[in-house]
Amino acid sequence: MICCSKKLKAKKIDHDYSAHSFPCVFIKAKFYKCSNCNQEYLDLGDDHKINKEICDYILSKGCIDRMHLKFLLKNLFGNSMFEFANAVKTTPQHLKSLILYKSMLDLGLQQRIVKAILEHFNKVTVSKAN
Ligand SMILES: [Zn+2]
Repeated sequence: MICCSKKLKAKKIDHDYSAHSFPCVFIKAKFYKCSNCNQEYLDLGDDHKINKEICDYILSKGCIDRMHLKFLLKNLFGNSMFEFANAVKTTPQHLKSLILYKSMLDLGLQQRIVKAILEHFNKVTVSKAN
């Protein structure tokens, strides 16, 4: 980060991301402050990194609830709803009815969603390494 023609030093902080995800979710971020003009900068990293940290939080909860599912569909699997539904052995219609509180989110489906999250991030990590 450059400000006033000077390279700023990053300070590592935990940024409260609750408002954009779930209560008590903190995202690792870099904070910069220019000593010359007092301008402040916050670098949260890219969407993939942010989503991964939020998913780590979801996985740490030990169960998937409707709000988690809603987040996953919006941020992770939204562009591949059919593939995701297939991977967790259900249908897009059923996923939507879960979010709308019209169906029960059973344990088997929760476990398949956990597996899909893990596979999602493994896949991306592998393709990055290539
Ligand atoms: Zn500055």
